[in-house]
Amino acid sequence: MPYHTTDIVISGGGIAGLTATCAFAQAGYSVVCVDPKPPVTDGNDPTADLRSTAFLQPARNTLRNAGLWDQLERFAMPLETMRLADAGGTQNEIRAVADFNASEISDEPFAWNLTNWLLSRELVNAIENLPNAALITGQISGRITTRTDQNLVMVGDQQYRCRLLIGADGRNSTTRAAMGIDVKTWRYGQKALAFAVTHTEPHENISTEIHRTGGPFTTVPLPDQDGKHRSSIIWMETSANATALQQLDTDAFNIALNARSCGILGEMTLATRRNLWPIIAQKAENLHAQRYALIAEAAHVIPPIGAQGLNMSLADMQSLLALTDTHDLGSDAHLKAYEKARKSDIDLRIRGVDALNRAAMAQSENLRDLRLKGLSALHGLGPLRKSIMKKGLGA
Ligand SMILES: Cc1cc2nc3c(=O)[nH]c(=O)nc-3n(C[C@H](O)[C@H](O)[C@H](O)COP(=O)(O)OP(=O)(O)OC[C@H]3O[C@@H](n4cnc5c(N)ncnc54)[C@H](O)[C@@H]3O)c2cc1C
Repeated sequence: MPYHTTDIVISGGGIAGLTATCAFAQAGYSVVCVDPKPPVTDGNDPTADLRSTAFLQPARNTLRNAGLWDQLERFAMPLETMRLADAGGTQNEIRAVADFNASEISDEPFAWNLTNWLLSRELVNAIENLPNAALITGQISGRITTRTDQNLVMVGDQQYRCRLLIGADGRNSTTRAAMGIDVKTWRYGQKALAFAVTHTEPHENISTEIHRTGGPFTTVPLPDQDGKHRSSIIWMETSANATALQQLDTDAFNIALNARSCGILGEMTLATRRNLWPIIAQKAENLHAQRYALIAEAAHVIPPIGAQGLNMSLADMQSLLALTDTHDLGSDAHLKAYEKARKSDIDLRIRGVDALNRAAMAQSENLRDLRLKGLSALHGLGPLRKSIMKKGLGA
C-alpha cells in the first residue's frame, strides 16, 4: 500500500485544525491536515461561518507565534471593554450595567475580534505558503491503526504514518470515537442566532452582553464598512424562540432585534443571514490515547459566553506544542503531560460558563433579581473584579 510519512496528521480543518496546522508547521514539524469539506473562505457563500471570534490576549500570542498575527491584525477589531447589562425587570430595558475595562489590568485590549470565514481564508493562505504543511480536502481521516512508535491513518486510499494524530474534528469527532474516548454532554434546550448588524451609534470597542431571559444577547465590535458602524451578534434563546426568530421576515426581525438590544447601539439593522447554532456543553473523558491528542471542540464544547470556546482551543494547541520542548512528540510522556496541563483549566471553564449560562437563562422574576444583585456585588469589589478579568483572559 502506498504510504506517506509525516510528523503530525490533524483530523479536521475547522478554525482550530487550520490554526494548529500553522502553529506546528511554523515550529518545524511536517503537518498534514485533513477535512472532508474545503474551508469556506467567501463571506457571500451561503454556507459561510458568520460568527466572529474574539481572540483574547493569550490566543493572540499563539497566533503571533504561529506567524499569523501580522496578516490577521489588519482585519481585527480591538475590544477594550466587556460590558454586562441586566434587562431582567418587568420592562425590556437596561436596569444595571457593569463595565470591565482592559486598562484596569493591562495596557492592551482584552481581545481582537475577527469574522470566522475571513479567518478560514487567511489560514488557508498561510498553509499554502508553508512548505512543510498540507491541507487535504474532500477526504476524511478514516481507519486508524495505533502503534507504539507511530499511528497509521487512512485518508482515502492513502496511508499516512505519523508520530502524532491530533483530533480537531469537532464536537462529533470520529477519531475520538475510533480511539474509544467517551464524552459527557449537557443540553440546555437553547440555540444561538449568529448574524451581523449595522447600527447608528458607534460601538466604541465595547462588547456588551445583555441578560434578560432565554440566554444572553451579545454584541461584538466589527470594523465599520461603507461608512456604517457594524457589530456581530450572538442571540441565545430557547430553541423554539430562536427558530421562530430565524424564520421572521426581515422587517419583523428588525423590530424584535431593536426591542432585545434595548437601543444600546442606536437603531440596529440586520446585515447578513441568520445562522442557527445548537448550544451544548461537552467534555471528553480523556484528552489522549496512544499517539493521539484531542484539542478544541473535539475535546470540549461550551456555550458562547465570555469568548472562551476557541480561546480554550488555542490554549490546548499552545500547551501541546510547548511540551515538545521537553518531551518527544506524540510520546506517552508528552501526551500525559498535555492532559495534566489542560484538564483543570478545561473543567474550570466548563463549570464557570455552565453556571453563567444557567443564570442568564433565568425565567422567574425572583431569579432575575438575584442575578442583578450578584452582578452588582461582583462588580463593586475592585480586587474581585480584576481577578475575574484576569481569569477570563486565562491567567
Ligand atoms: C454561536 C457561537 C459563537 C461563538 N463565539 C465564540 C467567540 O466569540 N470566541 C471563541 O473563542 N469561541 C466562540 N465560539 C466557539 C468557536 O466558534 C468554536 O470553538 C470553533 O469554531 C470550533 O472550531 P473547531 O475547529 O474545534 O470545530 P469545527 O469548526 O466543528 O471543525 C471541525 C472540522 O472537522 C471536520 N471533520 C469532521 N469529521 C472529520 C474526519 N473524520 N476527518 C477529517 N475532518 C473531519 C469537519 O468537516 C469540520 O470542518 C462560538 C461558538 C458558537 C456556537
